[in-house]
Amino acid sequence: MSLVTAANAAYLVAALLFIMSLAGLSKHETARRGLSFGIAGMALALLATVALVIDHQPATIGIVLMVVAVLIGATLGLLRARRVQMTEMPELIALLHSFVGLAAVLVGWNGYLEPELHGELTGSLLDIHHAEVFIGVFIGAITFTGSIVAYLKLSGKMKSAPLVLPGKNLINLAILVAFIALTTAFVISPALWMLALVTVLALALGWHLVASIGGGDMPVVVSMLNSYSGWAAAATGFLLGNDLLIVTGALVGSSGAYLSYIMCKAMNRSFFSVILGGFGIEAASGEGKDHGEHSEIDVAGAAEMLAGASKVIIAPGYGMAVAQAQYPVADLTRTLRERGVDVRFAVHPVAGRLPGHMNVLLAEAKVPYDIVFELDEINDDFSDTDVVLVIGANDTVNPDAAEDPGSPIAGMPVLHVWEAADVIVFKRSMAAGYAGVQNPLFFRDNTQMLFGDAKDRVDDILGALKEQPVGAGR
Ligand code: NDP
Repeated sequence: MSLVTAANAAYLVAALLFIMSLAGLSKHETARRGLSFGIAGMALALLATVALVIDHQPATIGIVLMVVAVLIGATLGLLRARRVQMTEMPELIALLHSFVGLAAVLVGWNGYLEPELHGELTGSLLDIHHAEVFIGVFIGAITFTGSIVAYLKLSGKMKSAPLVLPGKNLINLAILVAFIALTTAFVISPALWMLALVTVLALALGWHLVASIGGGDMPVVVSMLNSYSGWAAAATGFLLGNDLLIVTGALVGSSGAYLSYIMCKAMNRSFFSVILGGFGIEAASGEGKDHGEHSEIDVAGAAEMLAGASKVIIAPGYGMAVAQAQYPVADLTRTLRERGVDVRFAVHPVAGRLPGHMNVLLAEAKVPYDIVFELDEINDDFSDTDVVLVIGANDTVNPDAAEDPGSPIAGMPVLHVWEAADVIVFKRSMAAGYAGVQNPLFFRDNTQMLFGDAKDRVDDILGALKEQPVGAGR
């Protein structure tokens, strides 16, 4: 068997491993196995590609450069991944997406400047090659700047409020029309200035699309950029004639698009308006509204309330992740269950900073899967609940989303925690959530604030519960 045949066979196996990886990642129970399939597929794909390159160009300086680049990239990636906090994952992912976009732009430019590297191309094959160059550069450049803006917003280096330029939709439309016209002209007569112009336009479009989206809608943007990075990789695959890159890019592109669609549905947003960077721009209302006074509870009071409850729901959010409070929260859950309290978790689809964030944290702390419920499964049960513990959640439990059509997060489904008999909110201050909107929940009669770091407060409650007799329930 020739090396090329062996490498193609390895590519096929790698593609299958990627598909099995995606299938595994779709369920908690199989996610770890799914990840292993993905790692194995990527290792195989890398090995086969390196072998092919060495076979194609033995003993050239290019091979040395490639190996050095792989080693530097792998070392940096390993170091960064080891150090990254779970709450910083979305910004790291956004940054990694930007590399895929940049790679697509560079490969595209290389395809234009050195077409002979891509084989003997004449006639319609050359036209197709030029179209691939143009489309690859366009998608790559949008992904590049869009991901950088997402990184800046997610890491708090740029304001999460949406940029609202006058005629923003017209600007986007004009760039799209220019792209179509330039692609046609480029295929007919490929000129350097056209490629330079489309690169600049696409860089501007990527920046504008993501900058126009408000903080509360960022989760969809992250998965949308994931999808764009997949299409950018597929475009690169066409240019390099690499089948595995095409398959992998298409898998990432389509699964990312489907994830964006599911998230749009979960957040009650229009899929097309996300793609066009068109939502999250409603004029903010409610800021400066007088919500009245909030009330506070202390640790002893919270422990007493929990000891007397028979049904408790915990709504975790980003603050639980920041505080790393999932472990004491899991201990509190065990303690309460041992005392005969029915404890369940209500997980909002965009709680935290990445899809599935809360599920991962709770699984890490060994909270049983069968007491963790999605929003749709548990939202009707709050009215029949004694105590809700809102642990570091804010936007995802904001009643304004359901009750104030003028709110920037209006229409986003939220956990109806306020329908419970009592609500205890764990946070450090009265500050707004990620979307920058104040939360009227904190001022409701049945809500009491428990200020401080979520981990410390839950630990304190665990201690205080020992003083409480096993409750008779309500
Ligand atoms: P939010 O981000 O709305 O609020 C988190 C709250 O946690 C803050 O109000 C903060 O208040 C509190 N907090 C922070 N640190 C601590 C701590 N150490 N101890 C106790 N509390 C703490 O949380 P949600 O999870 O409700 O909402 C997620 C938001 O993030 C949504 O707007 C969503 O759209 C957005 N988003 C989600 C993504 C996803 O994929 N899941 C991706 C990108 C954005 P204080 O400072 O007063 O303590």
